[in-house]
Amino acid sequence: MPFSSFRELNALREENGEPLFANPRNAAAGTLKLLSADEVEKRGLDCFLYHVVTSIPGLETHWQALETASAWGFQVSAHRKLCRDTHEVMAFLDHWETARTSLPVATDGVVVKVNDFALQRTLGMTAKSPRWATAYKFKAEQAATRLLSVDFQVGRTGAVTPVANLEPVLLSGTTVKRASLHNADQIALHDIRTGDTVYVEKGGEIIPKVVGVDLSSRPTGTFPFEYITHCPECGTLLERDPQEAKHFCPNRWECPPQIKGRIAHFMSRKAMNILGGEALVEQLFSKNLVTDPSGLYYLTPEVLSSLENWGDKSTGNLLRSIEASKQVPFHRFLYALGIPFVGETTAKYLASHFRSVQELSKASAEELTEAPEIGEKIAESIREYFQHPRIALMLEKLRASGLPFEQSAGEANRISDSLEGKKFVVSGQFTRSREEIKKLIETHGGKVLSTVSANLDFLLAGEKTGPAKMQKASKTGIPVISETDFLKMIGEMPATGTLFETKKPDSLFEL
Ligand SMILES: [Zn+2]
Repeated sequence: MPFSSFRELNALREENGEPLFANPRNAAAGTLKLLSADEVEKRGLDCFLYHVVTSIPGLETHWQALETASAWGFQVSAHRKLCRDTHEVMAFLDHWETARTSLPVATDGVVVKVNDFALQRTLGMTAKSPRWATAYKFKAEQAATRLLSVDFQVGRTGAVTPVANLEPVLLSGTTVKRASLHNADQIALHDIRTGDTVYVEKGGEIIPKVVGVDLSSRPTGTFPFEYITHCPECGTLLERDPQEAKHFCPNRWECPPQIKGRIAHFMSRKAMNILGGEALVEQLFSKNLVTDPSGLYYLTPEVLSSLENWGDKSTGNLLRSIEASKQVPFHRFLYALGIPFVGETTAKYLASHFRSVQELSKASAEELTEAPEIGEKIAESIREYFQHPRIALMLEKLRASGLPFEQSAGEANRISDSLEGKKFVVSGQFTRSREEIKKLIETHGGKVLSTVSANLDFLLAGEKTGPAKMQKASKTGIPVISETDFLKMIGEMPATGTLFETKKPDSLFEL
């Protein structure tokens, strides 16, 4: 949303007595949430394209792709540069550090990309992002305000974070009232005291941070900040690993925010994908209905009907998602357990190396470090986790509820998750046998169905595919792909771009 549209929009809202948007970003997000194309048009939202997913022959670089998109009539940023070395990249960043203030839209950084598509493919992706693109953030804006008081938050892992309560101040278009103070060391380093005027900065995080103190305006009669010694939630004496800057509440099993945090993590989308947010966890925990993840599998409609603001429809959805969670792959269940230092990727390595909770739980430190990507710190954390009597009890309940305690035969043969959740019908003749094709789909995490229906993702059509199947796919709008398309999807043939390439059913069959 250009600044000009933003100003116009706010002027109109002011006239109509409506609340104003804080900044163009909020205004753009608020506009899209209305889900109305008319409103988007009225409010002057615009769009730049930054990436073309293509396998068009001849397009071999990102630069060429952008030029082509521009020639097609799409709006592409004019402020791009093809740099031949890091000096040119640095000079570009330096230039825009200040020049950006004269742009018609708000911007917070620059993305540096590898130009050559072939090199992009070689570099590939990490679990989170491509290795061939990286973001540079401009220096954040700062504001000065008074530090009123400090709260302490305890997270899922017991880590304590000091949070500053500030006199409200405008920063990059939003009003800031709270900011992170990092840890005890940072507070001591800057000698931050209650009553001080502090500098706040907005980085990439949601919550801004305190980055310094204006000593010249310190009021008289202040004292150095005294960090808390006990957990604000459960009163336990805090501990501090000399290697880590943070304080921890060691009361893992009784400290409420840690228990609630583990339940919420277990339910999260990338873990067991069980519906319901923080408010639900809070209610279940405060009523003593769920005190660890295993409790979720003992919930009944009767119990849920006693919750405030919780209707029959929500109950049905929640119970269905709990039931469906029993079918997640083994590695996701391992991730859901929330073993300290075991993230999504580590959980995958552990799942394919040990293949069951039983094997993993009885593995020695040496056996654990033999698994790929597992160091001593993670090994120790896993050992500690499984040795705890409470964990043993919880795992027993989870096992009784039918959760995936081992890798299924299909998962064990997995080569990749590139087709995870995708459903295929395979029809016609291919250069390799149909059985071989079906096996490839399964080893890459996909499913093979026998009939074309609306919940299908792809019809993989070889030579002489029956016209009835093609017609049905065309009617239901299911993409028909060739053997070559399919091999590109699973990386057996070079693909250009990163997403699936599909082609629409042949128009002949639409007649
Ligand atoms: Zn605590």
